[in-house]
Amino acid sequence: MTLASDTWAELLEGDGAHVWHPYAQAADPGYIAPVVAASGVRLQLADGRELIDGMASWWCAIHGYNHPVMNRAVTAQLETMSHVMFGGITHPPAVKLAKMLADLTPASLDRVFFSDSGSVAVEVAMKMAIQYWQAIGRQSKQKMVALRSGYHGDTLATMSVCDPVTGMHHLFGEVLNKQFFAPAPQSPFDGPCPESDMAEISDILAQHHNEIAAVIVEPVVQGAGGMRFYSPDYLRKLRALCDAFDVLLIFDEIATGFGRTGKLFALEHADVEPDLLCLGKSLTGGYMTLAATLANKRVSEGIDSGDAGAFMHGPTFMANPLACATAIASIELLLSQPWQRTVQRIHDELATGLAPARDLPQVADVRTLGAIGVIELREAVNMREVQPMFVERGIWIRPFGKLVYTMPPLVMNSDDVATVTAGMIDVVSRL
Ligand code: PMP
Repeated sequence: MTLASDTWAELLEGDGAHVWHPYAQAADPGYIAPVVAASGVRLQLADGRELIDGMASWWCAIHGYNHPVMNRAVTAQLETMSHVMFGGITHPPAVKLAKMLADLTPASLDRVFFSDSGSVAVEVAMKMAIQYWQAIGRQSKQKMVALRSGYHGDTLATMSVCDPVTGMHHLFGEVLNKQFFAPAPQSPFDGPCPESDMAEISDILAQHHNEIAAVIVEPVVQGAGGMRFYSPDYLRKLRALCDAFDVLLIFDEIATGFGRTGKLFALEHADVEPDLLCLGKSLTGGYMTLAATLANKRVSEGIDSGDAGAFMHGPTFMANPLACATAIASIELLLSQPWQRTVQRIHDELATGLAPARDLPQVADVRTLGAIGVIELREAVNMREVQPMFVERGIWIRPFGKLVYTMPPLVMNSDDVATVTAGMIDVVSRL
């Protein structure tokens, strides 16, 4: 029996018996959609219905699904070498991809450490920051400063730098490292950043810089911690503060990298260079699980000079050749198109399509940036109620908390964007 011929009921029965879904109860995960195929921007359900995917599979499938160029890249690499360990070995896809990433990101970031998920890329950056200070004899610098409303992953180390309220600190409090938290920037994306936005983080750095290894932020867009957009000016001021207090700066572009905000990387809005940069999600166009942490020479040469003599991390699937080959294909595919124009077109369509939501009493805010469209409600949605409503409308949208948002694949055409925004408004208006 092929997967595609499984019926809706069979799939859900099997799923209910053994599968544990994300952010869900094991035995009662709520509404689950059985998807048996995906092509273009459409997910095919087990009963034959199709959904237009407004989520790009948690923001990573920028080219949509079943793309012939991406498929060819996977199969070509599959016939050459699917996996090989990376300890003491290198291979063409890793070498080529590392060079591409070093060339596309700010010039100072010239060393690439591959891993297999965004959370691990952030953990690697945190470990590099701590090991850097150790290597140069400043062992006291081990803490991070993170922002409220920030999100950096679900592992124990990355949870410690997620927003302490919306994150999972209350569940894992004693195990998580205690970090410093500064307020989320209040300045809007298109405005300047007032000194008031910098006051508290400046105080933290002034008082505790001897304990602080790095500041970690998601540049310009705070994603899973609240879908907030803020002024690039904040990043320029933050860079100056980090320099003044001798603290490293980590940018987490796992959600924003590869075009989502209208720039290839969100840091380009500010023209600021971090010491460490984390990439994931769209790096492979959502085809394979791959992430990367890029470091500048200060960090890599600093760690090299230490007593440990090496950076101590090495995932089994590091630089997986299939994943690297798909990343190369994905980046080449993106850059071969007028992608900035596409993101601008999607942005304008999202802004127009979602604008009517402003008149709804249940809506607190509507905002758009790049290919991101957000409706913020006054109250959190009930997922069990809301998820099937989107499916009935023929679209796949997965809200969280008060946020009903879309980050569509960057290949979505105007008609499909209009269907997504109309469906979002329709569902929100019925809540
Ligand atoms: N950082 C950011 C900014 C993210 O958005 C995410 C995932 N939503 C992560 C880190 C974690 O990535 P992953 O889920 O691949 O571990």
